[in-house]
Amino acid sequence: MYCLMLAIAVLLGSRWIVKPFLAFMLILSAITSYYMDTLGVFIDRDMIQNVATTTFTEGKHLVTIGFVSHVALWGILPSLAVFWTRLSPTRFRRALAVNSGLFALCIALTGGLLMTNFKTYAAIAREHKDLLGSHQPGAPLAGAARYIKMISRSTNIVVMPVGTDAQKGDGYRSASKPVLSILVIGETARAQNFSLDGYGRNTNPELAKRNIINFSDVDSCGTATAVSMPCMISKFDRDSYSYFNGVSNENLVDVLSHAGFHVEWWDNNTGDKGLADRITVRNFTHTDNAEFCASGECTDGIYRQYLEEAIANIKSDTVLVLHQIGSHGPTYYLRYPDEFEKFQPACRTAEFKNCTEEEIVNSYDNTILYTDHFLADIIDLLAEQDQLDTNLFYASDHGESLGEGGLFLHGAPYLFAPEFQTKVPMLAWMSPGYKTRFGIDQTCVEAGASRNYSHANLFHSVLGMLDIRTKERNPDLDVFAPCKAIADGGSPDRKPT
Ligand SMILES: [Zn+2]
Repeated sequence: MYCLMLAIAVLLGSRWIVKPFLAFMLILSAITSYYMDTLGVFIDRDMIQNVATTTFTEGKHLVTIGFVSHVALWGILPSLAVFWTRLSPTRFRRALAVNSGLFALCIALTGGLLMTNFKTYAAIAREHKDLLGSHQPGAPLAGAARYIKMISRSTNIVVMPVGTDAQKGDGYRSASKPVLSILVIGETARAQNFSLDGYGRNTNPELAKRNIINFSDVDSCGTATAVSMPCMISKFDRDSYSYFNGVSNENLVDVLSHAGFHVEWWDNNTGDKGLADRITVRNFTHTDNAEFCASGECTDGIYRQYLEEAIANIKSDTVLVLHQIGSHGPTYYLRYPDEFEKFQPACRTAEFKNCTEEEIVNSYDNTILYTDHFLADIIDLLAEQDQLDTNLFYASDHGESLGEGGLFLHGAPYLFAPEFQTKVPMLAWMSPGYKTRFGIDQTCVEAGASRNYSHANLFHSVLGMLDIRTKERNPDLDVFAPCKAIADGGSPDRKPT
């Protein structure tokens, strides 16, 4: 590894380049090693994407005193030493000869040492992707290069329409009431800390009292918002989803638009990532509200008053997508109002090393408790609307590590991500009038709710729940399809297999 690094440095051994290059490598390594060492975070292509697409308010919580002093000590200080060093002037020809010789020697040594036991090295590289993924600064540099390649491949793409054949099913023929559907995209809620999914602490006291359908074994598509969220509302599953497929195809909200719904995206997180380019977007992150946005970011409580206003004016079938801030870390304590700090003592800083693991879990559980209240509160609001037929569908985008195995936060490469980052809560609620109108047998759906599902079911199930006919809906992936008393709303030319 040393020889390889030296070969690269020698390659850039011109006096104009070498110092800035070395300083850059040192500072980059200091930054990325801090997150690796303290949070167990891997800096790969997807993590670079998270960094590139994050917002300032989200990112600022990761810049702590611990971080700054680590970078100063291991990045800035060695960089100063690099700049301090005087280079002795050498003739170009001589420098070229020395550097070429050194480069060749380094490459030969690297190759030679690899060859002494190539089979083992190759096996280790294949089996332990985490080993290569943790090399500093090789991994972040390779990740950045892969990210640039991914982005450049997808410039000038033409977005393919999806579900232009979508139509409302029979349930809409004679009914006079508009349908209101709320799709909540959760943030960083993991199934292991939902009492609905078996957690020992009562983190879902309110939802437990609502007549919801809880899907207790759901796998996420990715381990970070930038991957999971586009995937979960796309028609693709985890195997077929890629960034390119995501940005080059319309998604669930477009299909709903094609079917004649008024669709809006309400964001209280890091934005819609281009998913809502063709529908109305409302941003709540910078709302000026003393009660819900005092910290500069808003808790999800901000939605309530705007929902009431919007609901009062609904005249046609409507879908609202709410992108929650949910349990977004590391500042869990900013995600809930004080009266929801039920689990104490709670960690009230972004600097995890100043908190015990118990305090971190406490503050995280308080965010789940608040999401429980947030969802139950919307359900109550929807249940009151006699003039509408209503439903709610909720799924979190990915989970979170809370110190298990030394890992914190999320974004681990899926191959070796712990289940804490990939098992997510998912649930549905329908008003009694809605169930009757669309002939959905809740007991039947509940009977299958503990089966293993994934984000791939979301696209097809929301279309199924809303009784939308389109060839894009695969009844096999629609959790409601087997439980409809009236004719299944699939496309006539697509037979269930
Ligand atoms: Zn997320």
